[in-house]
This record gives sequence, C-alpha cells and structure tokens, in this order.
Amino acid sequence: MNTTISHHVSDGLLLNYSAGNLPEGFNIVIASHLSVCDDCRARAESFDSIGGTILDIIEPVNMISFHQSLRATQELITASNVPTNLPCSDIENDLLPAPLNNYVGDGINAIRWRPIGMGAKQSILSTSGSATARLLFVPAGSSMPNHSHKGLEVTLVLKGALIDGDKRFEPGDVQIIDNDTNHSPIAGESDDCICLTATDHPLQFKSLMPRLLQPFLRI
Ligand code: ZN
Ligand code: ZN
Repeated sequence: MNTTISHHVSDGLLLNYSAGNLPEGFNIVIASHLSVCDDCRARAESFDSIGGTILDIIEPVNMISFHQSLRATQELITASNVPTNLPCSDIENDLLPAPLNNYVGDGINAIRWRPIGMGAKQSILSTSGSATARLLFVPAGSSMPNHSHKGLEVTLVLKGALIDGDKRFEPGDVQIIDNDTNHSPIAGESDDCICLTATDHPLQFKSLMPRLLQPFLRI
C-alpha cells in the first residue's frame, strides 16, 4: 500500500483555489487532496495568509467575498467527522476523502455507477459552476480512449493506480493536464482504479465511438 504522495497540486492552481477563483468541481478534487496531503495543505494555508495580507492593504470591498470563499474552502476540508489529516495509507480503507463524502452521501457502496464502455464506469457529482466532477472506475489494465483537452483536467487517484506515459499516479496523487495535452491513461495491472476527476471543457476524442457517446456520457 502506498504511503507517500509524489504528485501534488501546482502553485498556480493552489493559489486560485485559496483565492476562491475555481469552480466547485475543481474545488472538490483539490480539497480532497488537501485532506490527505500535509504538504499541499501547508502551502494552501500560506497562500491563504498571503491573500489575507494583500486584502488588508487593498480595497476592503473584496474582503467579504474572499473570506466567504476561504470559509467555504475550510468547511469543505473539515467537513464530516473524518480527521482532516487522514494519512494517505488509509485511503483504501476509507476510500473517500472527507470533502468527497458530502457529495457521495452514504459512502463508496452508495455510488450509482453508470457504464461508459470497456468495463469503465462513472458517477457524475452534482456541482454548480463551469467544471464537471465525476468518479471514474477503470478496470485493472484497461485504458481510457485517447483524447486531448481544450481546458483543464485535474484527477485525484483514490484506489489502484493510473499510468500516463512515463508517470505513475498512486492513491493520493494528483494529475494536472492542461490545454492541448493528448493522452490515454491506463489503470495499473494489479488493481481496478477509482479516481476523482474534474474538467472544465468536453474532452476531444480521436476515435468515432467515444465522440458519438460523448453527449450521453457528459464527458
Ligand atoms: Zn499534495
Ligand atoms: Zn484527459
């Protein structure tokens, strides 16, 4: 079982998260990562204090919305009775990080999966804003159809592993994909992969079948 996190949230994304600039879909992924990653949580807290200092010396009119976003962020992280510093090694036992529990309700067994082909399944979370967040189940050794992105894709691995090119993402790791990246992530051979992923634009599929199914799958 993995006990270390190798892939973290970038400074740019974390700064926008702390400032409350991101849509809810991305907030869930980042808050879930922060709930298992001391490193990123400490960086987010330092960004929060920098943001507070900056706001103290500029127009006070923005402070209310900033502090509301900050409070919403903190509530996401501290939500539920699960400790916020849940060690990464516990993710497979307590598969859903605390912020995600609020969206899934009664835990992993209550998730209503919908098949998306090749044995893969998804469950779209109910969020507002411009990003869509979903849980993805990919059978061990299976690959996602080749696709590229017009926007941002942020993925947190919850179970199993995700292999993308020469990079391997284990539970707790975050993958950030920007514009124009072309990829076909594969689930690790030894275990089915469950991950939480958010996107702000539809994926650009190369092959016909995923393109035909795309409107039905909202992917
Ligand atoms: Zn991290
Ligand atoms: Zn992608």
